[in-house]
Amino acid sequence: MKIHEYQAKEILRSYNVAVPQGYPATTVKQAVKAAEKLGGNVWVVKAQIHAGGRGKGGGVKLARSKEQVENFAKQMLGMTLVTHQTGPEGKKVRRLLVEQGVDIDRELYVGVTLDRAQSKNVVMVSTEGGVEIEKVAAETPEKILKETVDPAIGLQAYQARKLAFGLGLEGLQFKNAVKFLLALYKAYEATDSSLAEINPLVVTKEGDVIALDAKMNFDDNALYRHPEIVKYRDLHEEEPLEIEASKYHLNYIKLDGNVGCMVNGAGLAMATMDIIKLAGGDPANFLDVGGTANKETVANGFKIILSDPNVKAILINIFGGIVRCDIVAQGVIDAVKEINVKVPIVVRLDGTNAEAGREMLEKAGLNFEVASTLKEAAEKVTAVIAN
Ligand code: GDP
Ligand code: MN
Repeated sequence: MKIHEYQAKEILRSYNVAVPQGYPATTVKQAVKAAEKLGGNVWVVKAQIHAGGRGKGGGVKLARSKEQVENFAKQMLGMTLVTHQTGPEGKKVRRLLVEQGVDIDRELYVGVTLDRAQSKNVVMVSTEGGVEIEKVAAETPEKILKETVDPAIGLQAYQARKLAFGLGLEGLQFKNAVKFLLALYKAYEATDSSLAEINPLVVTKEGDVIALDAKMNFDDNALYRHPEIVKYRDLHEEEPLEIEASKYHLNYIKLDGNVGCMVNGAGLAMATMDIIKLAGGDPANFLDVGGTANKETVANGFKIILSDPNVKAILINIFGGIVRCDIVAQGVIDAVKEINVKVPIVVRLDGTNAEAGREMLEKAGLNFEVASTLKEAAEKVTAVIAN
């Protein structure tokens, strides 16, 4: 699960991670009020969307008067912000964060995430903050320093000192960076976060070390023990069809193609999308209906797939391991009759009772094409769309 920057900063603040003072605002009036409450003479107005790269896209503005705060708030609220992470369609700005301006000495980077290869959390820092860290990792990986964390004891002070030293910090900046890193790791671990990324992490001439930006993602499988984080969910930022699918416990990801896919098992679903591509087609979605492909799950799957107007045909690929193919076939027939599916459907069944299942589909007198191999199914569904 993803959350907004202002929410991540609320969490970080509660773990004593230094963040700038600021208030969220959903109206221009609230934005001006926030600036008044903050005082001072420099403010930053920041669009809150679930995507980075806002600075370059016009979603982060430095204001030197309250009139400017007001004008930037007017500009940003309601605008569609396009960044390299939003895709060309962009995201609508519904909320701002108004913060006290910070006088930056240097922009650094820090990220905490899980290193799957080592099965351990890793803390990464770099002097190349502010810019795209992916580019630094690809072109100058030696500029990223890492410390792997032993899960039994957590991030150790000596590791935090090593990282702060590697960033070239001294004196008060060094001391505050060590404190910052230890607190950030605590926050990451205690919230079952899967990513805590601060870019930029800034140091000031006064020696402060502050999270100027903050991104936190959370492990969905651990959300049951964090109701306080679930409250941060913003459905405006999620794909409506994916929200609908999650109600049915279907694992659905919307894509841009026109071949709807209904598959049991995540690995098989990935393979199905690959082979559709190989046949010259374009998958409209990833959908794993899970182990029990019965009438209900198949019918719910159809509803979700068909809510996407781009879908021109559907490929059903079910492997009957735990479920029997004849039962799946009956489920497909019943569901198609019940919800009156109009687009052509190609079905590939294999596994237990596959023969019987295929025969049932062929005799059903519905708009089915039956295939016996995955390759044949992918070719048939792309041919159906081409015609
Ligand atoms: P992102 O572009 O979505 O990652 O948004 P960020 O929060 O990282 O902001 C982008 C850039 O805006 C930062 O790298 C800073 O250079 C600048 N910025 C943000 N807040 C401040 C601030 O308080 N003072 C100054 N001088 N610059 C800021
Ligand atoms: Mn950033």
